[in-house]
Amino acid sequence: EYGAAPEAPGPALDWLAAHGRKFGHFIDGDFTRPGKTFASTNPANGEKLADISEAGKADVDKAVKAARAAFPGWSQLSGFERAKYLYAIARQIQKESRLFAVLETLDNGKPIRETRDIDIPLVARHFYHHAGWAQHLSKSFSDHVPYGVCGQIIPWNFPLLMLAWKIAPALAAGNTVVLKPAEFTSLTALLFAEICARIGLPKGVVNIVTGAGETGEAIVTHPDIDKIAFTGSTEVGKIIRRATAGSGKGLSLELGGKSPFVVFEDADLDSAVEGLVDAIWFNQGQVCCAGSRLLVQESIEAAFIAKIKQRMKTLRVGDPLDKSIDIGALVAPVQVERVLDLLKAGRAEGGEFYSPDGDMPQKGCYVRPTLVTGISPAHTLASEEIFGPVLVAMSFRTPEEAVALANNTKYGLAASVWTENINLALDIAPQIKAGVVWINSTNQFDAAVGFGGYRESGFGREGGREGMAAYLKPAWEKKLKAAPDL
Ligand code: NAD
Repeated sequence: EYGAAPEAPGPALDWLAAHGRKFGHFIDGDFTRPGKTFASTNPANGEKLADISEAGKADVDKAVKAARAAFPGWSQLSGFERAKYLYAIARQIQKESRLFAVLETLDNGKPIRETRDIDIPLVARHFYHHAGWAQHLSKSFSDHVPYGVCGQIIPWNFPLLMLAWKIAPALAAGNTVVLKPAEFTSLTALLFAEICARIGLPKGVVNIVTGAGETGEAIVTHPDIDKIAFTGSTEVGKIIRRATAGSGKGLSLELGGKSPFVVFEDADLDSAVEGLVDAIWFNQGQVCCAGSRLLVQESIEAAFIAKIKQRMKTLRVGDPLDKSIDIGALVAPVQVERVLDLLKAGRAEGGEFYSPDGDMPQKGCYVRPTLVTGISPAHTLASEEIFGPVLVAMSFRTPEEAVALANNTKYGLAASVWTENINLALDIAPQIKAGVVWINSTNQFDAAVGFGGYRESGFGREGGREGMAAYLKPAWEKKLKAAPDL
């Protein structure tokens, strides 16, 4: 669709207007009256989109009470009955996919091509997939029961998709939820809430409270929540782990990454360049599993770097609603500052920086795609997660050195290995400590496959059988009650 007209923001603006551009929380099947609010803005132009309510402890408590009250009814429905609701949600998301895509792009700054072709279809797929699981639970997890009330806290980089990864398996398993979207991107979660009401999801099964870190803290420390699921920074993940220690709450953490993208000399270099564009410039590099560390075999380093620079010149940065755009806006000014600060620190340590020339939008949260070469593994930019459109490149000589460099990180979320030698690929992949290793590909997500990390990338998996297991616990209590007295 190169050259096509920009996607019209009309439907999303109409939806915002229908709500008076002001939102309360979604608790017990209804929107509350807006309380203390903060602004949600469009990072592509700085314009305010809506006022979002900030949930305090009392709001969170109300949401938890609604979820608790809904739990017995929801968990006792047959899996088949729960599946019907999940299918209905999936169908509504497909029906409203254009509205969801435009709203997500306005709120987050990511290109409409991505929200339209990737985020929203994956969301629908996640609900369809988990509707299937709901029906199979009694066979596959017959001696397991749901946790109860789940508190779920998500980041801003894939707002609706992260919501789907949290809510779909939780509901399939029979839990009820209190979910908090990230403060920059509440809007698609609120539209999702409206859909829950529209399909007649029993009140209190899904509750959405909006707000920033303090609201998250109120969820994490609430005594009547049985499990916390968090996706976000490693820093906040550590705080949550400490806060839940000893509380008896279940916990899963999906945190940061610094994933290696390993290119061997016999790789199909043109495909590897395209893979790399997807790995690091998809969603402006604001991807937990972004292939942000290029490790390239020394014999092809110069040729491969030249190819990347050539390709970078063709990346279009601009209005995310424009269908021909490759790189949109970062989510907020504070993220631009974070990325630029890291680049500044990196510059002070040396290294060579490359960014293509070319027009940049006059205002908005834009950062040029950047390539950093001539650095060592100890360099800040080689070790810290940047969460922006910045690729760092280093070289290796032997496969052993490639593995050592790939594992030289505190994270362990994903990796990508490029070679035409399948024996080499199969030898290398299991040696890399990462939750997922893609061969000659990158960013392959599937609702049926568990995704998650090692080390400071967190623990627990989302998707697939492991993802379902994360929302179930062994039915010891049930068994104990049934056991005869000794
Ligand atoms: P963040 O940790 O600052 O915020 C994530 C969420 O936690 C937000 O909803 C925020 O309001 C909330 N929060 C903040 N402080 C809190 C506290 N003290 N208690 C409870 N909740 C709190 O991260 P971010 O800036 O929104 O997201 C970017 C980070 O998330 C990156 O580091 C990225 O790698 C990571 N991420 C990981 C995955 C994954 O699957 N592993 C996916 C997406 C993003």
